[in-house]
Amino acid sequence: MIHPHTRTAHVNDQIGQGVFATTFIPKGAMTYVIDPLDIILPPDDPRITDPLTRDTVETYSYIGPDGSRIFSWDNARFVNHSCNPNTISTGYGFEIALRDIMPGEQITDDYGLFNITWNLQCNCGDPKCRKLVTANDPALMCMHWDHAVMQALASFTSVEQPLLQYLDRKTHRALMLYLNTGKGYRSVRSLQYTPGATQPHNGHSITAV
Ligand SMILES: [Zn+2]
Repeated sequence: MIHPHTRTAHVNDQIGQGVFATTFIPKGAMTYVIDPLDIILPPDDPRITDPLTRDTVETYSYIGPDGSRIFSWDNARFVNHSCNPNTISTGYGFEIALRDIMPGEQITDDYGLFNITWNLQCNCGDPKCRKLVTANDPALMCMHWDHAVMQALASFTSVEQPLLQYLDRKTHRALMLYLNTGKGYRSVRSLQYTPGATQPHNGHSITAV
């Protein structure tokens, strides 16, 4: 579920739709969390490779740490990539605002944490643009992403969290343990899908909502 204070709008003919803030969204706010209405396709679901549905799956889903394809039922599926995003995935399964987001600003994310299986050409226009988003990005970027997530999490308990009610209890407990003690931080590395592994890293289950 995408943050409730957002809406979709046309970005341009090349990109199509995007998601934009309708009010101020503070740094540290959850901007997306999986919810019970999202559609989860297991890694062996035939619709992932069926020519009839394959392109839609590739465009509108992301791959969780257990290899499942997750389709958001709401506007979360229209969030675009940026190499300097204002939100990012956390090791706790939700997305977080990395900086204050102003009304009218587009919500962006880094697809480098979505376990993409293909190289994505990028022209996001940011001076930090990587030009190509690849499956190898986490190996290079995880330390940078973790640092950014920890900076944002420092504001987690002091800002409004309309999506917190959707976070599963086990993950919430793990998050609060880290926020209260500074111990047990769950790296974004735990989001990485390793084909053939039977259990997600760090025990995180994308379906445990
Ligand atoms: Zn870029």
